[in-house]
Amino acid sequence: MSVMPGPRSNGTTPTRSERGKARSVFNRLLKRYPQSRTALDYANAWQLLVVTVLSAQTTDENVNKVAPVLFQHYSSTAELADARPEDVERIVFSTGFYRQKTRSIIELAQDLEDLYAGEVPADIDKLVKLRGVGRKTASVVLAEVWDVPAIAVDTHVKRVAGRLGLTEETDPERIEGDLKALYPKETWSGLSMRFIQFGRDVCDARRPTCGSCEMFRFCEWPGRFEAAGKLSG
Ligand code: SF4
Repeated sequence: MSVMPGPRSNGTTPTRSERGKARSVFNRLLKRYPQSRTALDYANAWQLLVVTVLSAQTTDENVNKVAPVLFQHYSSTAELADARPEDVERIVFSTGFYRQKTRSIIELAQDLEDLYAGEVPADIDKLVKLRGVGRKTASVVLAEVWDVPAIAVDTHVKRVAGRLGLTEETDPERIEGDLKALYPKETWSGLSMRFIQFGRDVCDARRPTCGSCEMFRFCEWPGRFEAAGKLSG
């Protein structure tokens, strides 16, 4: 049997039935998404950090078109750390917010050089010291590259977990704490990507397809009946 982690963010401990429901949700996600890797292309931890930054507010396909050009021009953190912003901006332009993203990835490369000699640390506390890297990005990298148990909470994870009643929290770090309390450690690294994909494919922010959703019976979102075209009474 798996060793269950500690209490939720508010100090309470999940009940057996709450854990059972969480497990049922995860089993359905596993069935829908047997593979949980990111759709972003990358060759190493540094490249994954960069493409994760570039993926904000755009599609993974867009990033996958831009990334090979970027890494052809700048094949190491040292090269990107010394890059001229206008050159990088031209390459990442099509991913949107190109000025901000250019600044972020150059600063990221500079910090990696200055703090860790160009090596990406496999440690969440060290990763979040890098400019532009929050707990979400750090967790994605840890889970993807090193299979380190970590849960990344982004807008999709937040929405899906909230609608399914797996958390009542709104702060990402507290949601992360609640999910960690509900799920055994060995499932953490595969959890976020599946929640994110489910949020994109089914549990959309504005148009969730509740009528055909396999989670309907577990869902606590008040709008699910209306979205499913059923009567709530
Ligand atoms: S029933 Fe609707 S709101 Fe609930 S998880 Fe499914 S898609 Fe999301």
